[in-house]
Amino acid sequence: MSRKRAAPEEDKSKSVKRGSFNPSWQNGLEVSLKDTASHLYSDELVVIIRDKFPKAKHHFLLLPQACIDNLELLDESHVMLLEHMIEKGKDFAKTNIEPKTKNSVRLGFHMVPSMSHLHMHIISQDFDSIYLKNKKHWNSFASPFFRDAESVLEILKKNGKASIDKKKGEELLKQPLRCHVCKELPANIPRLKEHIKRHDKDRS
Ligand code: AMP
Ligand code: ZN
Repeated sequence: MSRKRAAPEEDKSKSVKRGSFNPSWQNGLEVSLKDTASHLYSDELVVIIRDKFPKAKHHFLLLPQACIDNLELLDESHVMLLEHMIEKGKDFAKTNIEPKTKNSVRLGFHMVPSMSHLHMHIISQDFDSIYLKNKKHWNSFASPFFRDAESVLEILKKNGKASIDKKKGEELLKQPLRCHVCKELPANIPRLKEHIKRHDKDRS
């Protein structure tokens, strides 16, 4: 009898802790980096790809071409790279996302990434997606677990590093569901999804 294999996204949320090593899916971004057909933008320093499990109508990832695993490996020498990532992310949002949505777009990093290879999320704030399924997904984009790229840059400039706080990250992911706009506390994901429709500027 054949057993249905769970999709990587499901594997991840059920059995793998953020920051732990699981080579079967964790290197997916490395694969995309090598697959030039998946590149929506590229230059000598960065690449932009689609997020495979978008958590909003417009969700992309910007990766440096260089092999940098995560924020913890950044130092003063990476300030220019991070500035370039932000500049290109903003340009991409302006050209490819903003004309298609009335919702705002955020650029940022998860406090504790689940995938290898440094990546900056470029994501519209409608959170209208079938892939947004659970509290971890929500809190990873709608709580301070999502670190704005500009603030990471400021911290890197000031401290020469942009450390990862795994303990704080785990706590933030367990927080109650809270609307990112009005701070209401919906009881569960279906109610949250119903609630956030009223803030989705594309529906008005
Ligand atoms: P993070 O928690 O910051 O590591 O987020 C990783 C992101 O990568 C998530 O938004 C996933 O939906 C996305 N993702 C997972 N696998 C792939 C893949 N193979 N290609 C593109 N995006 C992916
Ligand atoms: Zn609200």
